[in-house]
Amino acid sequence: MIDIHIHAVSPNLPGVGSLHPLLCESPERVAAELRREMQTAGITDAFAMGVWNADDDDPLGITTTLEIARFAPGLRPIGVADPTRTDAEHFRKVELLLASGVVVALKCYLGYLHFEPAHPNYRRYYELAAKYRVPVMFHTGDTYSPRAKLKYAHPLGVDEVAVDHPDCRFVLCHLGNPWTTDAAEVIYKNMNVWADLSGLMVGDEGAFVSEEGREATSELAHAIQHAMKYSERPNRFVYGSDWPLAPMTSYREFVKEAVPPQHHDLVFDYNARTLFRL
Ligand SMILES: [Zn+2]
Repeated sequence: MIDIHIHAVSPNLPGVGSLHPLLCESPERVAAELRREMQTAGITDAFAMGVWNADDDDPLGITTTLEIARFAPGLRPIGVADPTRTDAEHFRKVELLLASGVVVALKCYLGYLHFEPAHPNYRRYYELAAKYRVPVMFHTGDTYSPRAKLKYAHPLGVDEVAVDHPDCRFVLCHLGNPWTTDAAEVIYKNMNVWADLSGLMVGDEGAFVSEEGREATSELAHAIQHAMKYSERPNRFVYGSDWPLAPMTSYREFVKEAVPPQHHDLVFDYNARTLFRL
């Protein structure tokens, strides 16, 4: 089972904070907790978001994730595409990393950073992603930051770049929640657009089993089922948990109940292998 969307480090985004106290701990501590969670939930591979605006010698913000990965087999980094960087030297370093095969994807923090997908500063990242055959993942939907601007995080903005960059694969993280039908339309229309099911519900184990939590998960399950049906592409939906914002096992159970059983193999394994060319 593959989890394509977790956090092993704090993303360092404006107005966001650390996401979770664990992410302030040492790489060894994070790795130990992650290993335990992965083992319990039956996750073999987990892809983790990098840090925005890291050092010059860490152009995709993946250094700490790589350190954690030394102690957590199956963990691989996703680089952050920083639209505030436009210099050739930066892109030279980014290209070297992509060519080395160390990053499995690029992540664009729409909304948190005030750049729409079609902003010219993202273009070079799409070209490199297409060249080195890694997907570009977009934060879409609600944000955790009062400083974010929602209009940049609407899934419809991804239609624009999906058309202009047909050789690049794009992922709508969080299925664009609450704009899940809009996200489904973008998937239906564009062969190169996918969605991850991460972060739709956050909280500890108790939050998932509480009365309020069960009501929320059942509404989300309907939204997932509707999106899969509407898009007519169950082969475009990929599992992610957004751990540690939710326990891996609680989240896996929620998605298992939400996704029709005939699509479990696709969502929990096969689609990720296709998308990331594993
Ligand atoms: Zn996330």
